[in-house]
Amino acid sequence: MNCVEFNAIIDSFLDKEMDDKEVAEFELHFTSCEKCRNELESFDKCSRILRYVLRDVNPPLSIKDIVFRKIDNIR
Ligand SMILES: [Zn+2]
Repeated sequence: MNCVEFNAIIDSFLDKEMDDKEVAEFELHFTSCEKCRNELESFDKCSRILRYVLRDVNPPLSIKDIVFRKIDNIR
């Protein structure tokens, strides 16, 4: 997955419309590409990310860490 593909599926990811394989690829790019990580963090969709993290029984650890860090920043 490259950055363009990553950006194209962020919405799908946030809407939980991806299958396990797509999530794995998304995670792989997310964890290895700082640019996209910053982009996702800058998305004004924190509540949706949070909802995704809290409802998933096995959330990607890296995203969970980032969301919780973001929550700390909001407080
Ligand atoms: Zn990227």
